[in-house]
This record gives sequence, structure tokens and C-alpha cells, in this order.
Amino acid sequence: MSNNPVLVVNSGSSSIKYRLLEPDTGAVAASGLVERIGEPDGAIEHHGGGRTLTQRKPIPDHTAGLQLAFAKFAETGHDLADAGIRVVGHRVVHGGEVFYRPTLIDDRVVTTIRELSSLAPLHNPANALGIEAVRTLLPDIPQVAVFDTAFFHNLPDAAKTYAIDAEVADTHGIRRYGFHGTSHEYVSGRAAQLVGRAAESVNQIVFHLGNGASASAIRGGRPVDTTMGLTPLEGLVMGTRSGDLDPGIIPHLMRTAGLDIDDIDRLLNRDSGLRGMAGVNDFRELRRLIGEGDRAARLAYDVYIHRLRRYLGAYLVGLGAVDVITFTAGVGENAPDVRADTLAGLSRFGIAVDPERNTAEDRSARFISPPDAEVAVLVVPTNEELAIARAAVAVAERTRATDSDMRASSTDERSAGPAA
Ligand code: ADP
Repeated sequence: MSNNPVLVVNSGSSSIKYRLLEPDTGAVAASGLVERIGEPDGAIEHHGGGRTLTQRKPIPDHTAGLQLAFAKFAETGHDLADAGIRVVGHRVVHGGEVFYRPTLIDDRVVTTIRELSSLAPLHNPANALGIEAVRTLLPDIPQVAVFDTAFFHNLPDAAKTYAIDAEVADTHGIRRYGFHGTSHEYVSGRAAQLVGRAAESVNQIVFHLGNGASASAIRGGRPVDTTMGLTPLEGLVMGTRSGDLDPGIIPHLMRTAGLDIDDIDRLLNRDSGLRGMAGVNDFRELRRLIGEGDRAARLAYDVYIHRLRRYLGAYLVGLGAVDVITFTAGVGENAPDVRADTLAGLSRFGIAVDPERNTAEDRSARFISPPDAEVAVLVVPTNEELAIARAAVAVAERTRATDSDMRASSTDERSAGPAA
């Protein structure tokens, strides 16, 4: 493989995160965040060449946001037009039933990503805007979409089926898709490496605890269950999302509180979770409030842990035996109390956390279980951008190989000639 970098783009409705990295080593050449696209107080923060550049100005749309980012790249010594970019990898949230592996982008793929917007109205249209903007700015570089749902495409039927009218489910694509797949796949692969075993031979539970949060049960490298469903709302308690609740709450609120469907959407996606219970969605804030004796914050923490333990129990039983439990993402990597409380009192299952290892100031992938523990408990920093970059490279190389095979075989045919 050459050392040409890969540009990874994660385009949201009003923001674009980007990173230019070297896919073999993971070394990051430059990265940044464009925020508040379409609002008067747009902003960019760009890191590269040992410098941080910030600017505030209105950014009317995604193309303007990327143009601004490209200008910052040039300022920090990475002119993207001649940086030798091998491929651009785009994070796309929902692949529906259609996309279940990283896919080379063409017009039809963009149209289909848009068509899947009914399943992810906040995310897919924004992903498509980012893709189109990069295609305009870098028309000669291949672009690959990497889907958040892909890893969970083959969940067992019993795990992916909702117990509702089968025809309704079928007509409207209602099944459990799962999200954060790129992270669960990357982290479980790293975890298998860390315990020195082939991924095919280990049973794992992964807790991806960021602002959004999900858990997965993985048997021999294949996911058998996950907490998120049709949308990223199901499952664990999150920063601003409720996770699981009694679906009866929705008609109840519509009838008794007069909420309409947009109110409910906002309530459950933006004003619930830690923010709904305690007024803050950031775990560091929650911890500060708990330290000050705030009872709502304490309760929010307890609900958060209770939900984690509920899924831990479900997945322990689902897998029958577990070899590795891994924590990742903002909270999972940085909150020793969450890790310790989630796994407390489970020594009879071979699960224990070593207090010293758990609280060590260490940013690397590491064990936090005691040396002789039956179940390895790990912290593995996630790196979705690197996983996307590598997946994009694999698709680009495969496509190049197929193209040159086709060229070779058409040359063969020509040289064989009609007389053969
Ligand atoms: P996402 O990608 O879902 O936005 P991240 O994985 O970056 O989220 O996680 C962000 C969250 O991680 C923050 O909202 C905060 O709650 C939590 N977090 C970050 N640093 C710490 C820390 N040092 N201690 C506890 N929680 C932290």
C-alpha cells in the first residue's frame, strides 16, 4: 500500500467533521469541525501542521463549509488538490436493507441514501449533502460510503424482529438495524487482538458509551444482539435520548399532555436521557452535580447504570459465556466509575475490575480486569475515522483490481479475435 492519505468526512445536518489520515498507521495529518452551517454564526476549527485555525463566519451550505475546510487544509500545508488523496470515506448513518457493506459512491448510491431518509430523517439527508459537496470539489477521487448499520445487517431473526404485525413491519421496513456498527466492529477486532485470540474464537460484549450509547453481543466476530433498533433511540440511556421506554407512553402523552408527533420526537431525542433527568447531558457535568449533592443527577446516574446492567445480564445469558467485555467512546473511555459500577459484584461470573488499572491515567487500549481474571475487561479507544478510512481503501483497491481485470480480459478478447 502506498502512503497516500484518506479524507474521512462525517457530515451532519449543521456540521461537518473531517480528518485527513494515513490509513496504515492511523497518523492524522489534519482534522477539523465546521459548525452551525446555515446559521449566521458559522464556525470552523481546523488542526494541522501543529497549528489550530479558527474562524467565525456565515456558512450558507455544506459546499461552502467544505470549501472553507479545504482553504484551511491549504493554509496548514495540505493542499487537497495535490495531497494525493487515495479515496474519500463518508460516514453514512442508515443503509437500510440495501447497503450492508462499504460501497463505492455513484449517482444511484446517493439517490438511494436519500431515499432511506424516512428511516433516518436527521442523518441521511445530511450525509448525502456532504457526499455531494465533496464530489463537486474532488470529482476525480473515488468516494466510498461506510454505513453505521452495516455490521448488524445479519443479526439473527429473533434479535432483529419487533413483535408487531408482520405485514406492517414488512411494508415499512421496521426491524432492528443497530447503529455505531463501525465502532463495534473496530473495537471488537482490537479487543480480540489485545487478548491474543482470533476474533472467531471469542465471545464479546462491547459498550460504546458516548453522547449516543449502544451495547452489542458478538459471538465469534459476528454480532448476535445490539441495543439500538430501527433508529438510534432504543436501548441504553444516552446524553439526550431516552433509550428504552414503554411505547404506551407515547399515546398517553399525546392524549393527556396534547403533545404532537414533533413534540414527542424532540422530547425523546433531545430532551431526555441524562439531560431530561438531570438537566445536563455531559457526563463531566453530571459528575460535578453529583459531587454537589444534586439528587436528580444521582438518580440519572443510577438509571444509566441500571440500564447498562440490564443489558449486561441479557447479553451474558444470550452468549452463554463471555470472554471479553470492552468499554469505549467518550464515557466508556473516561469514566472509571461507570465501568466499575456496571460490573460490580459479578465475581461469580468471572467478571472483576481491578481498581488501580481502572483508574490509571492511561489513554491506550488496555486491560482493567485483574491479571488472573476469567473474563478480560478492556478499555479500547474507538477510532471510527480510521475504520472508515481502511474500509474505503479496501473498496477502492478492489474496484481498481476489478477494473484492471476487466481491461485485461477485454484486451485478451480483442487479441484472441473473432477467429478463435
Ligand atoms: P459522540 O461521538 O457520541 O458525540 P463521544 O464518544 O465523543 O460522543 O463522547 C462524548 C461524551 O463523552 C461527552 O458528552 C461526555 O459525556 C463524555 N466524556 C468525555 N470526556 C469525559 C471524561 N473525562 N469523563 C467522563 N465523561 C467524559
